[in-house]
Formats: sequence, structure tokens, C-alpha cells
Amino acid sequence: MNLIYPLAVPKGRRLSCEVCDAPAERVCTACTVTYYCGTVHQKADWGSIHEKICQLLIPLRTAMPFYNSEEERQHGLQQLQKRQKHLIEFCYTVAQKYLFEGKHEEAVPAALHSLRFRMNVHGLNSVELVPAYLLLAEASLGMGRIVQAEEYLSQARWTVLKSTDCSNATHSLLHRNLGLLYIAKDNQEQARYHLANDIYFASCAFGTEDIRTSGGYFHLANIFHGLEKLELSDTLYTKASQIWHTYLNNHYQALSRARSQQADLLGKRFLNDTGLDEAQEAEAIRILTSILSIRESTFSKEPQKTILVLKTLSLLYFLMMDNSKAKDYAMRALGLAETYRSVEERRVIRNLLDLIYSDEEQEGHATT
Ligand SMILES: [Zn+2]
Ligand SMILES: [Zn+2]
Repeated sequence: MNLIYPLAVPKGRRLSCEVCDAPAERVCTACTVTYYCGTVHQKADWGSIHEKICQLLIPLRTAMPFYNSEEERQHGLQQLQKRQKHLIEFCYTVAQKYLFEGKHEEAVPAALHSLRFRMNVHGLNSVELVPAYLLLAEASLGMGRIVQAEEYLSQARWTVLKSTDCSNATHSLLHRNLGLLYIAKDNQEQARYHLANDIYFASCAFGTEDIRTSGGYFHLANIFHGLEKLELSDTLYTKASQIWHTYLNNHYQALSRARSQQADLLGKRFLNDTGLDEAQEAEAIRILTSILSIRESTFSKEPQKTILVLKTLSLLYFLMMDNSKAKDYAMRALGLAETYRSVEERRVIRNLLDLIYSDEEQEGHATT
């Protein structure tokens, strides 16, 4: 199966497979505008992304209607662009979420879609293609296809090199993925170089204490951890945990303030309160649970660091409205805090538990 650059040429109305570009044998009966070489790729695409965007593709892939005026035609074109831009972001987030969850194979069709729409909207040489190349590189790496990952990365690198307006955010992502590639190739020196650059560019773009910078600290910490430079890795894991704790605690404080002011709205939370998209939530879970297992296995001398990670995970799940997981982590944090002298720590965790319980009661009432 050849998945390398299947989309180097944007698709016109050729009847070729959505996933591999081979001649099509099947069509999706729900939208009738999407073709596949066979059931394997149809199933892969459906499970990854097509189920979510099947109906959205119809207006993009059917012939433009007849317009009465130039004005109408322009309006139609603008609508089309808007739809494609929405799909670029949507497919990107879906693919990114799969990657953070370790589902590399599932990420590929969604990432290919993000790339395809980017090519349609921005052209073949735009720096806007880079984030999609990076998704594909990361997915390839996750599947152990190092050569393919390198090809996507060199495509990304080349595009960045030719461009004059590449953002710091994109530079950061490129370096992060190069770092991950060199980790996979067991070249720690190159990996460190690129991850340090990732942190630098992410800090320029978002600040040193931003959640989007935390991934760089986390991966760099993993390298030092592997090299048994435990003091360095400890510092970086602490940095990454603190960034997430500060971010989530701010949301939590705002939420509990809002609740105490509006007693009648108690428990009425309709929206997800993390302020994160699904991919960022998946990243938070991945970073924090990895750090937790490292803390529990190696740094047990300093329980307050483990407590911080447990508390942060509890806040995250509470804000994601997964109360049973929130309770589980809070109880573990409390258990550890009891053996440790901090009174303040215990008070904070008990307050969080109280809120979780009151939410559970609300849910209980709602379902009876
Ligand atoms: Zn195919
Ligand atoms: Zn369809």
C-alpha cells in the first residue's frame, strides 16, 4: 500500500479513492460524492472522519449552481471557501485528537482531508499546508514508518524554507515533530536541539507559561528521563504540570466563583468548561497521566509533586464533566495529602470534592 503523498495533485472530479488515490470501485451511498478503491479504505475513512463530514462534502463536491449575477457568484464562492476552511480546522482537530490518544492509523484519513482542503484553499506551496504534513508525519512515526515520516517532514521543512511568512507557532510544531522523529531514530542530540527550538518558538508565539508550550517541555523531559538525567527531567516535568495546573485551576476558580454568585444556577453546566478543544484535552490527559506514572515510579520521595499531578487531573476531568474520574483522582490526591503534612492542600482538595459531589447529586436528580 502506497500512502506517500497520495495527494500531491489536488483532486478534481476524477473518480479515485479518497484514501489512496487508486481508481475507484465504490461510492459512499450516503453522500454519493466520495469514492473508494474498495471496502478497506471506505471503512478506514468512515471510522476516521467520513462519518462526521459525509453530508458536509455534498455542497463542496457537486457542480456550482447557476448564478444570476456576478454578485451572487462571488457570494457563492465565498460560502464555498468558508465551508472548506471550517473543514480544514475540523479535520485537523479530529486527526490531532487521535494522535494524542495514540490512534495513529485512525488519524491518517482525517489528516489527509485537512491537507486536501488546505491545498484547495491555499494552493500547493502555501505554508498553511505545513500543519497537515506534520500530522501525517506524526501518524507515520506512530505506525513505525520512519521513512514516510521523514518524507512528510522534509516536505514541511521545504515549504517553511520557501515561505517568508511562517509563524512562530508553525516553526514550533515543525521542530516538535523533528524532535519526535529523532527520538524515534535514537539520535538524542538532534532531538534535544529540535525540542529546545520548539520551546523557543512556542514561547515567542504564546509565552513560556502557555499550555501550547508545555508539549515541548514534556518531550524534552522524556529525553532526559531516558538518559537518566533525573534532575533535569524532574524540573521539566514540574514545569509542564504547573502550566496545566495553573490553566485548569483558573478555569475552576472562575467556575466556582460563578456558582457561588448564582445559587439558582447551581449545577447547571451546559457546556464543557475547560476552554480547550478535544485535541487539547487529549493532549492534557496524555501529558498528565504520563507524568503521573513517572512520578509514582521514581520520585516517590516528594509526594507533593505527585499530589499536584493528581489534583490537576482531577480538575481536568471535573471541568470535562467526568465526575467519576475527577473523584477518583481527587481521592488519591487526598489520600497522599493525609500522609503528608499540608493542611492547606487537604482543604483545597476537599473543596474540589465537595463540588464534585454536589454535581453528582444534581445529576442524580436530573435522571430520576
Ligand atoms: Zn484506496
Ligand atoms: Zn459519504
